[in-house]
Amino acid sequence: MPPPPIAAAATALPVAHLARVVAASGSGGATPPRAAPRRGRRGKPGFSRRSAIKKSFHQEQVVFSTPVPADPTVAVIGGGASGLSCASALAARGVRSVVFDTVRDARPGGRMATRFVDGGEQLVFDHAAQFFTASDERFQRLVDEWLDSGLVREWSGLVGELEAGGRFRPIHSLTPRYIGVNGMRPLADAMLPETDMIKVLRPCWISKLEPFNGLWRLFENEKPRGEYDAIVIAHNGKCANRLLSTSGLPLLTKQMKRLELSSVWALLAAFEDPLPVPRIDSHGAFEGAFVRDVDSLSWMGNNTRKLFPMQTGTPECWTLFSTAAYGKRNKVPQENIPKVTAEKVKEDMLGGVEHALGLSKGSLQQPIYTRVQLWGAALPMNTPGVSCIFDPLGRAGICGDWLTGSSIEAAVLSGMSLANHIADYFVSNGDRPEEFAIGLHEDLNAVEGHDIGQFPGD
Ligand SMILES: Cc1cc2nc3c(=O)[nH]c(=O)nc-3n(C[C@H](O)[C@H](O)[C@H](O)COP(=O)(O)OP(=O)(O)OC[C@H]3O[C@@H](n4cnc5c(N)ncnc54)[C@H](O)[C@@H]3O)c2cc1C
Repeated sequence: MPPPPIAAAATALPVAHLARVVAASGSGGATPPRAAPRRGRRGKPGFSRRSAIKKSFHQEQVVFSTPVPADPTVAVIGGGASGLSCASALAARGVRSVVFDTVRDARPGGRMATRFVDGGEQLVFDHAAQFFTASDERFQRLVDEWLDSGLVREWSGLVGELEAGGRFRPIHSLTPRYIGVNGMRPLADAMLPETDMIKVLRPCWISKLEPFNGLWRLFENEKPRGEYDAIVIAHNGKCANRLLSTSGLPLLTKQMKRLELSSVWALLAAFEDPLPVPRIDSHGAFEGAFVRDVDSLSWMGNNTRKLFPMQTGTPECWTLFSTAAYGKRNKVPQENIPKVTAEKVKEDMLGGVEHALGLSKGSLQQPIYTRVQLWGAALPMNTPGVSCIFDPLGRAGICGDWLTGSSIEAAVLSGMSLANHIADYFVSNGDRPEEFAIGLHEDLNAVEGHDIGQFPGD
């Protein structure tokens, strides 16, 4: 079957002539990173890390000089909300992609994570993202489709602010709050359309990117994972820094390295009996609370009431998040949490629940199930405020929540935006690359607040 044509967006640029992007060598492919002679002395006073990075940027830029093929394939590294929506939007424009994700025991979804625990009765916890709001009309259109197909519904449960000691104040949001009807993960599952334009490869941890003969070669450790016409980095944190640092994409590397991320502890806890939370006459017990003035706690969410409001007599499954300040002070390698740290965090956070609810010390019932997790790269603390980043010389881009904020909405819009940008670039045949450079030089500014819950609409 012939490949589908790459669809031009309504605002697509005119199709350009077949042309070569700056060819620095006669090889016709990508120019590999070249070492330049060193200037200055190592360790010289005033020789900042920043200037070292700046210098290496000039040394390493990869330049692709081959024309864009008729049926290009994009590698999307990261299967969170941004990567999935990027792949989906690429498919809508007739561009094939392969999504790589590290997830082992489920389909991808990243921080749209839900944990299902079988312990007699099934325990269900939204593990990171709790709900989302829509402030942009493009995202609202997508949410309306999800509503129509029964994937999401409005969450009308009581949400508010809980002050230490048990004083609760409802937050009456003007914007609806949405939840995945069966949790966030099933919603993430549904974000990829059924199409042979998208392949998902998992568990797969991409550890190396190498430009070769006009293509990007990907590796998982030393194992080759295919060759692609463009790459999308749809994850952040240390892993992305490492991946980019040897890739020959200095401008992307610089932007990613500027990103600062908070760490947040999550405690999933199931209780046999309902927690004694404050009630508001007309609304009953709260289902979600942003906790104020408790160091170990910033959010309490009752998954059971939120997801299964008609269910009674089953254990209550709560998702608890620490503050970013607590996360920072108690940071450990997230893949290898020492037992003693896990115990301490659990105690601190359950103590935080007592403090928040105004219960006496030691009076909280023992949970029947707990699980501690550190979200080491939880929420962005600064942002360039651009929808995506794209380096047309290196045929590589970045999408993710941090480009404009710290929410599912920001992640989805970023993925869609990068997909359309890449499709437009492909339509242009790689001619006039300078017109397609985006987000490579913006400064990053602080995101307002970085504890869980500061999402658009609240
Ligand atoms: C505790 C917490 C609570 C939150 N609550 C909310 C909320 O209530 N509402 C809201 O709107 N937002 C919330 N957010 C934010 C929201 O979850 C994120 O903004 C969004 O899910 C980010 O999507 P993403 O695609 O940018 O990144 P991610 O979801 O982080 O996806 C990145 C993916 O890339 C994969 N990956 C990483 N490295 C590699 C590699 N080398 N090779 C292959 N795959 C790789 C990872 O495994 C991951 O699956 C919360 C976040 C946290 C941490």
